[in-house]
Amino acid sequence: MNQRIAIIGAGPAGLAAAAEALRLGMKAALFERGRVGEGIRCAEGFFDPLRLLAPPEAGIRFKVQSLYFRAKKEYEFSTQGLRLWIIDRAQWQQHRAKRLRQGGVEIREGEAISRQNYPLLREEFDWVIDASGVPPVTSLVYGFRDYYLPHSLVTAQYVLSGDFTHLANSIKVGFSPDYRGYFWIFPKSETRASVGLAFLAEEYGPRDLDRLWTCLHREMAAEALAEAKIIERSGGLCPAKMLPRLVWDNVILVGDAAGLTSPLHGGGIDMALLSGREAVRAIARGGVEGYRKGLEKLFKPRLVLEKELVRLWSASSFEEVEGVLAGVHSLLKGKGIGPLLPLSRHLLPKAYLFFRCWQALQGGLASGR
Ligand SMILES: Cc1cc2nc3c(=O)[nH]c(=O)nc-3n(C[C@H](O)[C@H](O)[C@H](O)COP(=O)(O)OP(=O)(O)OC[C@H]3O[C@@H](n4cnc5c(N)ncnc54)[C@H](O)[C@@H]3O)c2cc1C
Repeated sequence: MNQRIAIIGAGPAGLAAAAEALRLGMKAALFERGRVGEGIRCAEGFFDPLRLLAPPEAGIRFKVQSLYFRAKKEYEFSTQGLRLWIIDRAQWQQHRAKRLRQGGVEIREGEAISRQNYPLLREEFDWVIDASGVPPVTSLVYGFRDYYLPHSLVTAQYVLSGDFTHLANSIKVGFSPDYRGYFWIFPKSETRASVGLAFLAEEYGPRDLDRLWTCLHREMAAEALAEAKIIERSGGLCPAKMLPRLVWDNVILVGDAAGLTSPLHGGGIDMALLSGREAVRAIARGGVEGYRKGLEKLFKPRLVLEKELVRLWSASSFEEVEGVLAGVHSLLKGKGIGPLLPLSRHLLPKAYLFFRCWQALQGGLASGR
């Protein structure tokens, strides 16, 4: 246990790695280029589909009660049973960092790891955990930076000031015939929300990145948000395919750096937390070569389901998406299969899979452990 670990990045993955090192009595130093909680690009939905995480210890804005899906019409799905919160990530991360400091973890803010000081870090510490997001420092050094874009959902997002009272304790997700992807409104309060749009990864269909912001503005207009005041503009990549190689000499990739976000929606806080933890456990048991296999096993139940869903979704027309939403909504409301009957035979399996997926989420997806 006397291994010394350097962690690059104080996002969810880096903080989780540091917490696990502390728990196991290992010596860890965390290097963050800015200040903890600064510059976060996220809609701040904390979703734990595998039920392997404790609820956020701080910064909870609300537990999500309903998810509104919009295609042609709008459908309210109850999120009862789902472990889904909207959080204030800066507050949550700062709280975690404070607890780590109290436990003796050295957190060095304002210390960016660059190509220049990276070799030194690798020499000084037994292990380096790269949790620097996407693209990670390691990809610049080892030359795999280009891996990420084609395997990522690409997103555009604003924080808007406006009236979001109609979405109290709820979030909204929308679809359009114009692109393969989805649009979201995740309120932070009655008067503020993250409003964004994601195109699916390239493997699920063509995408034109220049159109991303145009599509977002079109959706904002459809939601009567064209005049809303823009507080912040962000967006970026959500890498959704685990890298074939996660260990580079004595460096281990975790979180976004490892390509760990959902291929279905791009959310990655949960996988960042779990991979940060798993990387440290692998070091502690001297089994780093089994780290990737361990993650595959851990995430398999959700990734298999999500990849199948996204494959079916990307092969569906807008009308088919509408039909599936209408049918599943009716089933979940206990109103029978009426809306499903006009669906063509090849659509029924999609509706069934979505229905099972929703039920599984409400009951909890079993993890590979
Ligand atoms: C627009 C958008 C919306 C999203 N919404 C959601 C959502 O609602 N729910 C969800 O679960 N996920 C969401 N995600 C994905 C989520 O943000 C990431 O999966 C998650 O933040 C990954 O955590 P991480 O710790 O791996 O990386 P990050 O959160 O990116 O943290 C990396 C840290 O490393 C630091 N760093 C970077 N380079 C260096 C360096 N050279 N030296 C030192 N420090 C460095 C950064 O400052 C940062 O603190 C969203 C992503 C985007 C782009």
